[in-house]
Amino acid sequence: MVIIMLGAPGTGKGTVAGILTEKLGWPQVSTGDIFRKHMKEGTELGKLAESYISKGNLVPDDVTIQLIENRLKENDVQEGIILDGFPRTIKQAEELDKILAKQGKKVDLVINLTTPKEEIIERIVNRRVCSNPECKTIYNIVLNPPKQEGICDKCGHEIVQRKDDNIETVEARLEGYFKQTSPLVEYYEKQGNLYNAMVSKQINKMGKDVAEEVIEKIKNQK
Ligand code: AMP
Repeated sequence: MVIIMLGAPGTGKGTVAGILTEKLGWPQVSTGDIFRKHMKEGTELGKLAESYISKGNLVPDDVTIQLIENRLKENDVQEGIILDGFPRTIKQAEELDKILAKQGKKVDLVINLTTPKEEIIERIVNRRVCSNPECKTIYNIVLNPPKQEGICDKCGHEIVQRKDDNIETVEARLEGYFKQTSPLVEYYEKQGNLYNAMVSKQINKMGKDVAEEVIEKIKNQK
């Protein structure tokens, strides 16, 4: 099953994807995480990605599509995959459809998360992540802080702030989302596989609640 997480930065895509992976056993593949790993290791791809990410811009389509095309060939994702942060443009979505068609697959479910803008900004600025790539637990230092400051509850590794999680780049990232990524909502609506969910403290519904709904939905489909 191919599941896509759609939504502006800070809506909770990573949180929902992480829970789905834990409960369903299908890998969470985050293009952002792959880029950050390369940036940390200082590879050519990492340097290229950093020049875009540091400004809050998207990494070019050809680079990103190739990355996903290669990842989709690996054994661990043949039964199921949760794509977190890909596709982010119509071009990426079209290419993904072609890549999947070659494998006799299709996009099965697109989870589209929405959150009021002021909450998004608050969340991005307060977001911290576990630096252990095997764990990647997401915290909010106000709403959901770790028990011991700076230390992950789950694995004991250091908790860090992403370089692009700051007030300077958040506006550019949101603008990029509305211009380049939000047209995907209509794209998938037409395909008939869109699941819309609002994540907001205003309605007392957070990422974990959406993940539970989605798991129920998948169980009922089986
Ligand atoms: P994320 O962790 O999903 O918020 O991604 C962090 C950054 O990586 C984004 O702001 C983009 O600059 C870049 N990025 C991640 N996924 C993609 C994608 N599918 N296409 C282009 N750029 C991406």
